Amino acid sequence: MNSAEQFCVSLLNNCRTLRSLQHFHARAAVTGLDSDPLVAGKLLLHSAVHLSGALDYARRLLLHNPCPDTFMYNTLIRGFSDSASPQNSVSTFSLMLQNLDSPVDSFSLAFTLKSAANMRCLRTGTQLHSQALTRGLHTHLFVGTTLISMYAECGCVEFAQNMFDEIPEPNIVTWNALVTAFFRCVDVKGAERVFNLMPAKNLASYNLMLAGYTKLGEFEFARKVFDKMPIRDEISWSTMIVGFAQHGCFNEAFEYFRELHKLGITPNEVSLTGALSACAQAGALEFAKILHGYIEKVGFVWMIPVNNALTDTYSKCGSIDMALLVFQRMPGEKSIVSWTSIIAGLAIQGYGEEALSLFHEMEYSGIKPDGILFVTILYACSHSGLVEKGDEIFDRMTKIYGITPEIEHYGCMVDLYGRAGQLAKAYDFVSKMTISPNAVIWRTLLGACSFHGDLQLAERVKRKLSELDPKNSGDHVLLSNIYAFAGKWKDVATVRRSMAELKLVKTPGWSMIEVDKVMHTFVAGFKEDDAVIKEAYEKLKEVMLRIRVEGGYVPEVVNVLHDIEEEEKEGSVMVHSEKLAVAFGMGRLTKGKIVRVVKNLRVCKDCHNVMKLISEVYGLEILLRDRSRFHSFKNGSCSCKDYW
Ligand code: ZN
Ligand code: ZN
Repeated sequence: MNSAEQFCVSLLNNCRTLRSLQHFHARAAVTGLDSDPLVAGKLLLHSAVHLSGALDYARRLLLHNPCPDTFMYNTLIRGFSDSASPQNSVSTFSLMLQNLDSPVDSFSLAFTLKSAANMRCLRTGTQLHSQALTRGLHTHLFVGTTLISMYAECGCVEFAQNMFDEIPEPNIVTWNALVTAFFRCVDVKGAERVFNLMPAKNLASYNLMLAGYTKLGEFEFARKVFDKMPIRDEISWSTMIVGFAQHGCFNEAFEYFRELHKLGITPNEVSLTGALSACAQAGALEFAKILHGYIEKVGFVWMIPVNNALTDTYSKCGSIDMALLVFQRMPGEKSIVSWTSIIAGLAIQGYGEEALSLFHEMEYSGIKPDGILFVTILYACSHSGLVEKGDEIFDRMTKIYGITPEIEHYGCMVDLYGRAGQLAKAYDFVSKMTISPNAVIWRTLLGACSFHGDLQLAERVKRKLSELDPKNSGDHVLLSNIYAFAGKWKDVATVRRSMAELKLVKTPGWSMIEVDKVMHTFVAGFKEDDAVIKEAYEKLKEVMLRIRVEGGYVPEVVNVLHDIEEEEKEGSVMVHSEKLAVAFGMGRLTKGKIVRVVKNLRVCKDCHNVMKLISEVYGLEILLRDRSRFHSFKNGSCSCKDYW
């Protein structure tokens, strides 16, 4: 490198934005240095790989270069292989094939193969395989290994095995790729066989086994491998913690976390955010608080992703005050993810105005909102009945920020109008959508018709839904509710018959509650032999009696239909899982504590009513997160204003 080139490269490495890169390019062009092969190559590398959002620029650099070399082609292929548009790697590769001055090498093949794997495109993959064959590069370690991964991603584990067998001297990376391939194709036995055949194993191989097992929920095997590992690193621990947590085994996740702590090992960011996201899913507030304390103690507080996860966790556990506190104390610059998590947290609990004011604060701070944030903010408007605000935000999104609305944005708008009872407006909006409405959009509208008892529109909407998604049990339930509401029992019977004929599968319902840092899961129904269920059931009987006498509770027989999606039998309304979980919490938690329950499905009308009465009769606060939102029951009413 001469001194001019050296100077150029150091300037280039300081370019952090596309704009500064363009400036640099313009200045280099004045001096003619941009046609220096070394500078041109570095410029392309910087825009394709090191800088985000500059891939298009990189492509233009290549196209305008009079004699691009192999390195330049490979750089662009590599850039695209990690991007959202991996197909561009393939087109760059084709371009390269036409240019005889820049021969394809192992890197060109390996990076394009990676793109084929990302696209799961077997056709492209096999074409590249034959390109590798004609060049004698298919058994090259780097190429061979990516071929194995490509076949695995495309679901062809036998091809991956054949490819492996052709490689004369596979190294540990190749072996590991084959283990991953078997797990990828859900072949646990195959993965074990390869693992046992490996001549030497490194830590990464053991970690792959752990990751493979935990991902498939094979915890017994995972534990066995974990126990016999000669050494473990933070990845081994985080894999176990996150793996257990993701499968809802919070007690086990917690157990590993404690053990890790006892050994004096600092968990990494992955295991912390993973454990936090598990808490968020389960609504495990106490565990989240422990993790928070830990994060403060070991000094992870300055990490933005950890803070974001913490904000999200507190929001989803229903502790919005803590979420706000974490958000406000976040050090340094908050990212768009930080803002989105806190706004979503406020939205899901019905704090629409607060969500909007934070949104404006964010705009003021100079952060440009993205499509995801707009979904969140529109959701906030619809769940707080802010119709005009929602209209305004939708306009702002399209006109000021130039964001093209996607199906989720439309869904929020339909929900917004529907909740507010503006059904005609909602229907009109759907008819005018620029993309064709999917089943979710129509379902949202059907839900609104059900809530507002508009039988005529409901039937029209249901016809649309029957074309798009005839086998959805929820839609049938909604329609039958509307008929029941209108007293049309014959129609109710017809809907139920057609449900039976279609053999619609219902998702089983469960509810979870954390008591003394242990998660308890309840399912509908009553099992005599389970001590915890028995305890919950006894308490529930007592509670039901008291709300009947003091609160005037009458079971909602008509609306039993409301939720037959999950818990059909009339008798079992009494023992819906959320009732059991709440009763259990009432028996176990200290007085004055909020009872927090998470339910995987929508809460039914009867349970909703029961919670309201409990909150009134017992002077208790209940926070129930169901599939669609948070319900905060206080003094006999709910934050959702009976619409969910
Ligand atoms: Zn229920
Ligand atoms: Zn509610």
